[in-house]
Amino acid sequence: MKPRILIIYTGGTIGMIENQTTGALEPFNFDHLIDNVPKVKMLDYDIDNIQFEHPLDSSDMNPTHWCEIARHIERYYESFDGFVVLHGTDTMAYTASALSFMLENLHKPVIITGSQLPIGEVRTDGEENLITALQIAAARRDNGSPMVQEVAILFENYLWRGNRATKMSADNFNAFKSNNYPSLAKIGLDIHFNPDALMSHKAMRPLQVRCKMDSAVMFVDLHPGIRETTLRHLLSTPDIKGIVLKTFGAGNCPTASWFYEAIHDACERGLVILNVTQCVNGGVIPNRYVGANMLETAGVVSGYDITSEAAITKLMYLFGVGLKPEEVKQYLLHPLAGEITIES
Ligand code: ASP
Repeated sequence: MKPRILIIYTGGTIGMIENQTTGALEPFNFDHLIDNVPKVKMLDYDIDNIQFEHPLDSSDMNPTHWCEIARHIERYYESFDGFVVLHGTDTMAYTASALSFMLENLHKPVIITGSQLPIGEVRTDGEENLITALQIAAARRDNGSPMVQEVAILFENYLWRGNRATKMSADNFNAFKSNNYPSLAKIGLDIHFNPDALMSHKAMRPLQVRCKMDSAVMFVDLHPGIRETTLRHLLSTPDIKGIVLKTFGAGNCPTASWFYEAIHDACERGLVILNVTQCVNGGVIPNRYVGANMLETAGVVSGYDITSEAAITKLMYLFGVGLKPEEVKQYLLHPLAGEITIES
C-alpha cells in the first residue's frame, strides 16, 4: 500500500510570491506551490491536499486557525497515514504546541514545515523541507506503526517535537531548535530517527480533538528596573485568567517586598501565574534562589523547562477545557504531550 499523506497548506513564506508592484511577499495558492516542486510526484505516495481559503502570513494565525487545522486532521484521520502542515515560520512553534494539546491520543504523524525562502526561488529551502516532511510523514517502524506519533516541526536538518521547538533565527535555514529536548531525527544523507526521543503510544485510544482555547492569557516579561506600578497594572489587566511570567535565569525575580506582594495579591485573586525562564536553554529550578522560591510561596507555578510557546498555549488549552484555576495549576505540573520534564 502506498503511504497516504494529506498536505494542509495554511500559508507562510513557503507559498508566497513577490507582488510585482510593492515587492512584498504575499501568500499564493497551493497549485503554484506544487508546480514548483515537480519532485513531489516522484515520491510513490498518494498525496492529497487542502488549503486555507485565504492562505496566511503566520503572524495572522489565531486559535480559530489552529482549530481549523485540527478539525481537518480529525475529519481525515482514518483516510490518511500522515499529515504535513505547511505553515509560516513566525508562529509555527505556537501552532505546533497548540495542536499537540488539541490532538489528544494522536498516534499518526503531524509534521509542520515551511521555509525561509519562497518555494519558487532558486535557492529555496522550501523544496527540501516539503519533500523531507512528506518522507517523515510516511516513515514506519519495524512493526508497521508510524515512526512519528506526535506533532513535530521539520526544518532543514532536524525534526523537533513541536511543543519543544522555538524559532531561533529569522535568517538561517536551520531556523528552529529545541533547547531542552533532543531532536526526533537528524536529516543528512539519510533521515536518522532518534527512537529514545520519539513518543510511543502504548494504548491506542481514539483521537480526541479539543479545540476550545481561551485567549484570556498573556506574557509578562521582567526586566531590571521594572516598576511596581507597571507590574501591578499588568497583573490587573481586565479579563485575564493566566499569565506566563518570563523570569531571569533559573526562574528568578526581584526580591523586593513590593514585588512579592504584587504577585501574591494576583495569585490570591485567582490568577494562574506560570514561571518560565527568559533563557533559551535550561529552565526554572524551584528553590535554587530566593527569588524563585519566593514566587512559589506567592502561589506561582514553576514551568521547569517548558518553552514560552508551549506555556502560553497550554494555559489557553487548560482554561479552554473549562478547568478552574486550581485544576489548571495541577495540570501545568504534568506533561500532556511531552512538553515538560520535571525531575523529582
Ligand atoms: N512571515 C512569514 C510567516 O510566518 C515567515 C515565514 O514563513 O518564514 O508566515
